Amino acid sequence: MTDVERRQDRSPVPQDWTYAPAPESTEIVRLRERYGLYVGGEWLDAKEHFTTIAPRDEAPLAEVGQASEADVHDAVTAAREAFAGWSKLPGSERSKYMFRIARILAERAREFAVLESLNGGKPIKESRDVDVPLAAAHFFYYAGWADKLEYAFPNRTPKPLGVAGQIIPWNFPLLMLAWKIAPALAAGNTVVLKPAETTPLTALLFCDVLRQAELPGGVVNIVTGDGSTGAALVDSDVDKIAFTGSTEVGKAIQRRLAGTDKRLTLELGGKAANIVFDDCALDQAVEGIINGIYFNQGHVCCAGSRLFVQESIYEPLVEKLKQRMTTLRVGDPLDKNTDVGAINSREQLDRIEELVAAGKEEGAEIYQPPCRLPEKGYWFAPTVFTNVAQSYRIAQEEIFGPVLSVLTFRTPDEAVEKANNTPYGLSAGVWTEKGSRILWMAQKMRAGVVWANTFNRFDPTSPFGGYKESGFGREGGLHGLEPYLTFDDSETFGG
Ligand code: NAD
Repeated sequence: MTDVERRQDRSPVPQDWTYAPAPESTEIVRLRERYGLYVGGEWLDAKEHFTTIAPRDEAPLAEVGQASEADVHDAVTAAREAFAGWSKLPGSERSKYMFRIARILAERAREFAVLESLNGGKPIKESRDVDVPLAAAHFFYYAGWADKLEYAFPNRTPKPLGVAGQIIPWNFPLLMLAWKIAPALAAGNTVVLKPAETTPLTALLFCDVLRQAELPGGVVNIVTGDGSTGAALVDSDVDKIAFTGSTEVGKAIQRRLAGTDKRLTLELGGKAANIVFDDCALDQAVEGIINGIYFNQGHVCCAGSRLFVQESIYEPLVEKLKQRMTTLRVGDPLDKNTDVGAINSREQLDRIEELVAAGKEEGAEIYQPPCRLPEKGYWFAPTVFTNVAQSYRIAQEEIFGPVLSVLTFRTPDEAVEKANNTPYGLSAGVWTEKGSRILWMAQKMRAGVVWANTFNRFDPTSPFGGYKESGFGREGGLHGLEPYLTFDDSETFGG
């Protein structure tokens, strides 16, 4: 805050909200120049490498291994060998390792948060307050189930599947790793995980945690690389594939696995409806809308990217929304004041720019608050489109960026019909004071998660997953264990 003007009653009033920079130091992170592949508890050299960068300024951070088909094979073999011992350990022993991992993650939280923001571009306050604590919470939560599986599934005999191949995206690198690895280990499986190519560094730092926790070698293996490494993992000798990523790649994997014995769960894209009724608490709803779409630059599968506003409050709501957008601070992800950080990659920025151009061309009205974007790196200003028709690409396609489309409705039935008019079905939000309407809407929405008077809330105890082209299978909660188990009575759930 700079100038303070004295009002007539002498109370100080800020004239201009500018903030002094508050950068988080990167000293705590010690990167190696080059990383290999983590297989069988050891670091193996890869033949080829690629450079991973910081999206905030395109600075190279480290060289990372590009795992080949043979490397993936070695990792799966190591996981298979480790399965024999790991699956026979008493549950209480498995949970001991998992509690250790959770505790070390919590102890090294600042290091992980800084690295996550550096490599992924998300604001440090998000990696510090959301990604890393939730990742640790997932390990704590599933550690608690490891010795209670027979109580989790009474009158059934749960058994681990074997080796799980896990493929994750770049938007929540450490958190998605935790969502995948924690339930798999609790259920007694071993794992080969492939991080996304633009954000491998926290997964590689996690290998250090595994060694610190003295997890037996081969129980968790990390192979870095691009889509070809992911494809090699899908085709390898694993018992299950758990994939989080785009619908397009998810469909390709499903085709690939059709007719095989491998289990599959898919967590795919979304185009969530955030529905605001005229009886809601307006200011609270505006905060929820902002959080719903600008959190993590909109790189969120369940982002509230379609805003449906009841016509009677359209004008005041849009005005408040635009006003609130002017206070968002866009800039250095490592600055503790930053609300909207860097776009993850050049490729993702191109996609956002393409869809925003399509929105303008199709006739929608664009608003972006005045903000100065850094010259280096990948940036996109928070954006809202009004006058959007349901048929526009910006209302249909997942943008995966800080871009909101505003549409209107008159009645609850119309809201439901419009909100469900999408190939996706991952999440939705409802803003209303009426409890009965919340329950009615939650039943009608074809979405895996429906938030009421809030948005983007996550908890390890709560299952998460999609309908339709958003995928199948659930992660989180008791439901999240099932895809990693087989039952003697051959009952299976959730894909
Ligand atoms: P992506 O599908 O391009 O990549 C995801 C992962 O799959 C990466 O690790 C990538 O290397 C790998 N991959 C690419 N091609 C592959 C192939 N042919 N076979 C196997 N693996 C392959 O997605 P992305 O751009 O990294 O992530 C964004 C997408 O992820 C968005 O659509 C988003 O909605 C979705 N997502 C969904 C959830 C969820 O829980 N539903 C969570 C986060 C992200």
